[in-house]
Amino acid sequence: MDASSRIAAGDLRRHHLGLVLGEVVHGSAISRAGIAAATGLTRSTVSGLIAELLAGGLVRDIGAGPGGTSGRPGRRLVPDPAGPVGIALQIEEDGVGGCLVDLAGRAGARRWHPAAITGTPPQRAARALAPVLRELLLAAAGGDRPAAGIVLAVPGVVSGSAATTAVTSPALGWDAAAIGTLVAAEAEQLGAGGIALAVRCGAALAAEAEPDTGPPGTTTVHIGGRSEIGVTLVRDRRSQGRAATRFGHLVARPGGTACPCGRRGCLAVETRPGVQPDPRRSGRLLGRVLAGFTAPTDPDRVVLGGRFAAAGPAFVAAVTAELHRHGIPADRVVPSVLGTDAALRGAGRAALAPVIADPWAWITGDPAP
Ligand SMILES: [Zn+2]
Repeated sequence: MDASSRIAAGDLRRHHLGLVLGEVVHGSAISRAGIAAATGLTRSTVSGLIAELLAGGLVRDIGAGPGGTSGRPGRRLVPDPAGPVGIALQIEEDGVGGCLVDLAGRAGARRWHPAAITGTPPQRAARALAPVLRELLLAAAGGDRPAAGIVLAVPGVVSGSAATTAVTSPALGWDAAAIGTLVAAEAEQLGAGGIALAVRCGAALAAEAEPDTGPPGTTTVHIGGRSEIGVTLVRDRRSQGRAATRFGHLVARPGGTACPCGRRGCLAVETRPGVQPDPRRSGRLLGRVLAGFTAPTDPDRVVLGGRFAAAGPAFVAAVTAELHRHGIPADRVVPSVLGTDAALRGAGRAALAPVIADPWAWITGDPAP
């Protein structure tokens, strides 16, 4: 074997390691045979890869499950409960918060610090986040859980790459705020400068966290967010990684309530419980604007998340009736099962995504080739 084919074989094994960990993370106590069937790898290859993931602290063998078709029970594998965690952070108009998310997608150590963020400079928001991050780093360290990454969910449009992230959010009064750099500086102060940090749109993270996105080929329109609302199109379990948060600033009621973006009657403002106390009227407004998005996409499902997840049955019925008038069958409209927790869950999962994609890099500290 020459040098280049040895490297290629190493890359393939590295790729397969991620494939196998992905099956354990997304499966439900899957067996080695189950992974072999799902990935097309041989049983012996899977067993070898699982041995590496067990030794690397990413997978745990929880013993035999019920008997399979051969009658011999397979040993079941789950993400290691003592494995790495993703640190999820969140900024909203009325506070900052965060939690830890493990490889199985479970959220813990939730924190929420109420603070009036709207109208404050991003420096203040970053400083408000620092104690939350400190508490989460302590919680991770206390449980001896290594932190794989930090993802900050923000309400608004995120542009630019890692070092130059800019966030524009009428709800917060921010125009191209460099919140990523500011939070990275706070993390550095806390001794967490070595942990990768990313800033993502909260509504898109919420859509990605939704557990049931239907069978392959399913198209879902997800509407989520709290301070800002955004629409995300999820096809085949994949979003484009961003939400259309300008959606919230489409005019739902001409001449209506003044919005921080400068217009009047924006959907984001008109559907606020404080502005519109009648959930049926709020639901009709959302349904009417949303119909402009669902009519051309003809989604299999419309998920009402974020601030709309807990808006109640009268609200859901009004959205459903309005969409039905525009050709979307009533049984396609469902409230999110994650509710307002979705953006943080999505952020934590996004923080762990590099570990799942390339477990070899995590185990050995050897960066991607
Ligand atoms: Zn607006």
